[in-house]
Amino acid sequence: MANFKTHLTGGFAVSGVLGLVTYKAGLVNAPEFLMCVLAGTVGGLLPDIDSDNSTPIKMGFDLLSLATAFALVIHWRSELTLLSMILLWIVGYIFMRYAVFSVFTKLTIHRGIIHSVPYMLVLALGLTCLNYYLLKTSSIVSWFYGGFVFLGSMVHLGLDEAYSVDLMNRRLKRSSGTAIKFYNDSQRYYYVGLYAILMMFIFISPPFDPFFRKISDPVTWWLLKESILPEVLMR
Ligand SMILES: [Zn+2]
Repeated sequence: MANFKTHLTGGFAVSGVLGLVTYKAGLVNAPEFLMCVLAGTVGGLLPDIDSDNSTPIKMGFDLLSLATAFALVIHWRSELTLLSMILLWIVGYIFMRYAVFSVFTKLTIHRGIIHSVPYMLVLALGLTCLNYYLLKTSSIVSWFYGGFVFLGSMVHLGLDEAYSVDLMNRRLKRSSGTAIKFYNDSQRYYYVGLYAILMMFIFISPPFDPFFRKISDPVTWWLLKESILPEVLMR
């Protein structure tokens, strides 16, 4: 299993590069770009959030609370004075860090289930829905935030998988099974519940079509090419 620092670096590097690509392609603006990188970095820490080691849990909670506080402030930045923005930031942070997460820790006694693909999909879709329905973010940007959380978490699972295999491609004995997990028979009832929640989220998720059309639009990629190559080469 990869350690905390590796996950932090991995999630940040991948979402940083991809975030920059989406920003350069004109898909997100500057604050949204920062949120995407933050979402991807937090996503890279999420699968270990219930691990025995207290560092990932605490750091993950802190980062997620920080992200929430920033999301609130960025969302209402044009309507609020500086003082009320600071207040909103503090209230948002304290609410997430000490109210939401104390409930969350009580619910995650069943270790291992979080370290799975469906759980990460639920969290990513949850963030997408939260942005779209509560914060009234556009469906495209909401999908980007959810997408980045999912991307970060998949980098995490991929790193764990890579670290469980030695250079000879033999699986190290300490890690049993694969890190990229979809189901575990000994926790079948939890997985059934988890997939039911996932279905519900897929059902209520914001329209995917505008997002898909935007990223598959040739103009997007043309803009990206324009902004990557130096002007001299374009002539
Ligand atoms: Zn892990």
